[in-house]
Amino acid sequence: MPLKTVQEYLESIKRPINLYMFGEKVTEFWNHPIIRPSINTVMKIYELAQIDEYKDLMTARSHLTGNTINRFTHIHQSVDDLIKKVQMQRLLGQKTGCCFQRCVGLDTANALYSVTYEIDKKYGTNYHERFKKYWIEVQDQDLMVGGAMTDTKGDRRNRPKDQEDPDAYLHVVDENEDGVIIKGAKIHQTGFLNSHRAIIMPTLTLQDGEEEYAISCGVDTNAEGITLIYGRQTSDTRKMEEGKLDIGNFKYGGQEIFVIFDNVFIPKENIFMNGEIEFSRALVNRFAGFHRQSYGGCKVGVGDILIGAAALSAQYHGVDRASHIRDKLVEMIHLNETLFSSGIACSALGFQREAGNYEMDMLLANVCKQNVTRFPYEIARLAEDIAGGLICTLPSEADFRSNEVGPLLKKYLKTSPETPTEDRYKILRFIENLTMGVASVSYRTESMHGAGSPQTQRIMISRQADLEEKKNLVKDILDIEK
Ligand SMILES: Cc1cc2nc3c(=O)[nH]c(=O)nc-3n(C[C@H](O)[C@H](O)[C@H](O)COP(=O)(O)OP(=O)(O)OC[C@H]3O[C@@H](n4cnc5c(N)ncnc54)[C@H](O)[C@@H]3O)c2cc1C
Ligand code: SF4
Repeated sequence: MPLKTVQEYLESIKRPINLYMFGEKVTEFWNHPIIRPSINTVMKIYELAQIDEYKDLMTARSHLTGNTINRFTHIHQSVDDLIKKVQMQRLLGQKTGCCFQRCVGLDTANALYSVTYEIDKKYGTNYHERFKKYWIEVQDQDLMVGGAMTDTKGDRRNRPKDQEDPDAYLHVVDENEDGVIIKGAKIHQTGFLNSHRAIIMPTLTLQDGEEEYAISCGVDTNAEGITLIYGRQTSDTRKMEEGKLDIGNFKYGGQEIFVIFDNVFIPKENIFMNGEIEFSRALVNRFAGFHRQSYGGCKVGVGDILIGAAALSAQYHGVDRASHIRDKLVEMIHLNETLFSSGIACSALGFQREAGNYEMDMLLANVCKQNVTRFPYEIARLAEDIAGGLICTLPSEADFRSNEVGPLLKKYLKTSPETPTEDRYKILRFIENLTMGVASVSYRTESMHGAGSPQTQRIMISRQADLEEKKNLVKDILDIEK
């Protein structure tokens, strides 16, 4: 059965890779204290897929091979698959409290599956068969795959072809009968270091004359010519200190990488689009749609964690019975479940593409993500309100443990007799972590910009919603001539 164990996954990523952090080359990255929590997070995905209780959500039957596979490598075959994907993401958010990194490749694959089919139909190319072959390898080896869309984009006023530096958007710089050579950078790459492979896509809809930017292809994350530079997160160096409490979520974390492609060779069999500019829009929109659906699961799971932490802090402080605290917790739950509702709704209204796979409803997926750009901020605000100011003024764990001032801190941080002071310390740090520390990357800024900045959803909402039809509905009622 092609399901990797946790240990097999860990061994499989121990490979030479050209990685930099703090200006220095990192070799055994899997032992690095700043990186390791992000690996633990991915390991949780492999772990849960092995446990009977979670198999229904975490695994699926491949329509390509008939094998049981990890759902993160599945091409959705029904509305039920779309719904289970979102439920799985909520579960993983609950289990890790951060971004678990494996969805970008899943969403890319589901977009490419139908787009390659449609390109072939128009041009008689064989991208779809190539992609299926590539993806069967991913399923059979239970590989983690990144999704590489975002370019550095240079001066936003200019099109890719008009940039001063042509590498501002990743592009094909050379081509022969064996394949292509690509150059450029993809930034904010979630889980790229922890992934075996990545799939490259264009960032935006391309126009005539921009064919060299219309490239989609698979690449090994340690291929020759690739340089990875590890993205900093707020308070990340706390992970290098002695003790673990100041980290907040000391087990799990997310990961984003700045990835540079310096003349990387891509063999023909790994190319899934090359110059077909008119299909760039479909690829960008479908990928974004799938990833916006994803946020109706993952951010809700992390929201569950933040709500739980706020409720615990209220309990530890003895304010949990106060009516305004209960009301604030209800508001947090209401906002969080509203996000989940749109994640489930866009899945429930999913439809079948001609290629045979299922896709979420585009309008509702964009509404889902638009809400995600706002509600986690309000949930975080309420959590900060409930937790109190100590989330940003608490002395360090070293002081907490010190022989001189430790006993004083423990005396003055004591609340009710049933509350161990260390547990209170942990919860306050955990809320700090989610609202303004390392995990705020996953919960706040990723909610804002991941899967596209807010305006990109508004553009899609305006395109998808039929205003003329709404006007006609009114005209029908009022007997106004159309
Ligand atoms: C934590 C995190 C994880 C991510 N993971 C991935 C990943 O795994 N793979 C991936 O490919 N990408 C990933 N992204 C990238 C994400 O899709 C982008 O951040 C998003 O599309 C915004 O792009 P940007 O960050 O370059 O911001 P910008 O494009 O600089 O946007 C900043 C602001 O400028 C506005 N703007 C930008 N261009 C224009 C324009 N031409 N006209 C008018 N207004 C404009 C935007 O609307 C926004 O308000 C991730 C991002 C984050 C924060
Ligand atoms: S932001 Fe959410 S959907 Fe995207 S990779 Fe992270 S956990 Fe998955």
